[in-house]
Amino acid sequence: AKEEGRNGYRFYTEEMGIQVRERMTIDNSLHRALERNEFELYYQPKFDLSSLRVVGMEALIRWNHPQLGRVSPLDFIPMAEERGFISEIGKWVLEEACRFTARLMAAQGQELKVSVNLSARQVQEGLLIRHVVEALERSALTPGSLELELTETAMIANLAASADVFTELKSLGVSLAVDDFGTGYSGLAYLGQLPFDVLKLDRSFINQKEKNGLGNRKIIRAFIRMAQSLNLSVVAEGVETSEILSFLREVGCNEAQGYLFSRPLPADEFETFIATHEAR
Ligand code: C2E
Ligand code: CA
Ligand code: CA
Ligand code: CA
Repeated sequence: AKEEGRNGYRFYTEEMGIQVRERMTIDNSLHRALERNEFELYYQPKFDLSSLRVVGMEALIRWNHPQLGRVSPLDFIPMAEERGFISEIGKWVLEEACRFTARLMAAQGQELKVSVNLSARQVQEGLLIRHVVEALERSALTPGSLELELTETAMIANLAASADVFTELKSLGVSLAVDDFGTGYSGLAYLGQLPFDVLKLDRSFINQKEKNGLGNRKIIRAFIRMAQSLNLSVVAEGVETSEILSFLREVGCNEAQGYLFSRPLPADEFETFIATHEAR
């Protein structure tokens, strides 16, 4: 669709055709994906920037589709929301992530915090709190080892209604993170109104290959100062170079994740990663 010129139109329609066909395939098989056990969680390690030790990981869902292969969450999460499946999928993600983390912590004798992504619909549909409580109970995971991530746009969508949900989640002892911080146009007033613990700086600020690398650094510095004055911890995502890592350590960013450290890994590979990282 990006190609311009004489063949632009034809190219466009062909690509659209593939997209529509894939969309239909996804749409037709999404409702059975859970019972067929086609979802999988990958884990990306998260590092403390003063000790450079692994302190936790973000759970990222993958769909192993029998025909399409690995489908990106960007391609099916929005559809799952539209179709009303997101609560069910989100429940599975919570249970799987908590079970895995509790088992890994016991096996490694190490504290870990797992971050789970939530969609706005999950917060609005009213089952979230029960799902979180059940996932914690069934896995016997300490609430302090679970963090929930929500984008600012998702939070703002229904600020008044969501505020109660967040307060209740906080009272369970889980922590709450603002994901993709800096990409919404929502203003900052909500930061003072909601009980959040963590700001995750969006990777568009972090990734040095962006054109305005230097301007971004000023923004990162300002975000970190603001977060500190609000008593929020800062996580940088999408860290790909050692240059940006040094900068982040210098300006007091608390934690980081990104390809420089590791890509998201399947559960067994993540376990190996943890084991080899701590054995020294
Ligand atoms: P996100 O929460 O912002 O997740 C970060 C994305 O950046 C992930 O993409 C991750 O694989 C990718 N990433 C990590 N490190 C780097 C890096 O150094 N460079 C670059 N370029 N990318 C990096 P992924 O796994 O494709 O997930 C995409 C989005 O799908 C997530 O964005 C999140 O919004 C959503 N998602 C993933 N899992 C879930 C889930 O279980 N539930 C819900 N509701 N949404 C999910
Ligand atoms: Ca996230
Ligand atoms: Ca993010
Ligand atoms: Ca994102």
